[in-house]
Amino acid sequence: MFAKRLANVSVSATLKVAAEAERLRREGYDVVDFSAGEPDFPTPEHVKAAGKAAIDANFTRYTVAPGIPELRQAICDRYKQDYGVDITPPEVLITVGGKQALFNAALALFDPGDEVITHAPYWPTIPEQVKLMGAMPVIVSTQSTDGFKVHADAIISAISPRTKAIILNSPCNPTGALIDEEDVAAIADAAAARGIWVIVDLCYERLIYEPVPHNLPRILFDRLRDRTVIAGSASKAYAMTGWRCGWTIAPKELTAAFNVIQGQSTSNITSITQKAALAAISGSQAPVDAMLDEYRTRRDNIHAWLTANPAIQCVKPSGAFYLFPDISRLLSADGVATSADFARALLEKEHVVVTPGEGFDAPGYLRISYATSMEQLREGATRILRFAESQQPARATASH
Ligand code: PMP
Repeated sequence: MFAKRLANVSVSATLKVAAEAERLRREGYDVVDFSAGEPDFPTPEHVKAAGKAAIDANFTRYTVAPGIPELRQAICDRYKQDYGVDITPPEVLITVGGKQALFNAALALFDPGDEVITHAPYWPTIPEQVKLMGAMPVIVSTQSTDGFKVHADAIISAISPRTKAIILNSPCNPTGALIDEEDVAAIADAAAARGIWVIVDLCYERLIYEPVPHNLPRILFDRLRDRTVIAGSASKAYAMTGWRCGWTIAPKELTAAFNVIQGQSTSNITSITQKAALAAISGSQAPVDAMLDEYRTRRDNIHAWLTANPAIQCVKPSGAFYLFPDISRLLSADGVATSADFARALLEKEHVVVTPGEGFDAPGYLRISYATSMEQLREGATRILRFAESQQPARATASH
């Protein structure tokens, strides 16, 4: 009855958990929610003020589809300041979040039969958008044992004559891992030699905890300027998820194609959001640093608390705001057998919401968002540890 392109596309796995959590909340339970994919901080004051001022000034009409010129320029200026790269406004298009940035790229570049390489564990939207276009995701897995590193040689070995693009995400949701500059350089060289696009999702680019080299725009532009797409977002950096602002940085011709797609679908993003995003991107960056400091403290605490149980193994994330522990040692064939079972039982018994790894192509893992208060983290960690302990004797008995 529906279009064939929908046949292989799945609904977000997190929605099921969210619905169950909502049911428990309505029944009056004290639910600790670690499923949030968004900052818990309010949007910074000067950003909110810019949005309100836009309404008061009646800046409430259509704008040009690719975004107001001053916002496109502000993005060029920000990348110049942060990465030392020269970008011009015709290479920038303002989108409804990083999600539409990736969607425009998928729609403009992928044909049925194309292969698109990406790495797992992944943010599910990445392969699902590929499938929506009738193209085929080719998944290169990364391992927790080496910090979920994306190795260039693994990506390059996955290239075939049908490869159209490689999608990278760094910092990665759900692992928090960064891709090393050398790996990106090697991938870009291989892509340049074969006429393959590289799309890099930098949605968490401002949330990197240690000052490690991570100048992916410069590396890609130096090697692959005419086939690089950067997908960016104001959502996580500026606590603006609900405002819906992202962007693409891509060659002019491709940006013009994005403009055609957007002009025939959503048109411009919300006018007042554009003014708010302009304030966020060109104004003081102090709120970004303050939030990052707080996330770092939370990360260090929740990581230490959970790994106090040696059966919970967890790489310390370098960026974003998720822990991605391996809980496979707490599973047993005759009880809680999968991470999905674990998440369900944890919700039922301890009323803690986590996202099971299955949705990220990583069974045996859980995604724990620490974009929540320290009190919630402490309480949730206590409950998870209690639940983990309740699983351990069962496992010991089962093995006899
Ligand atoms: N990329 C990744 C890896 C994400 O986790 C998200 C949000 N969860 C996005 C892109 C898109 O976010 P938004 O559309 O709010 O910019």
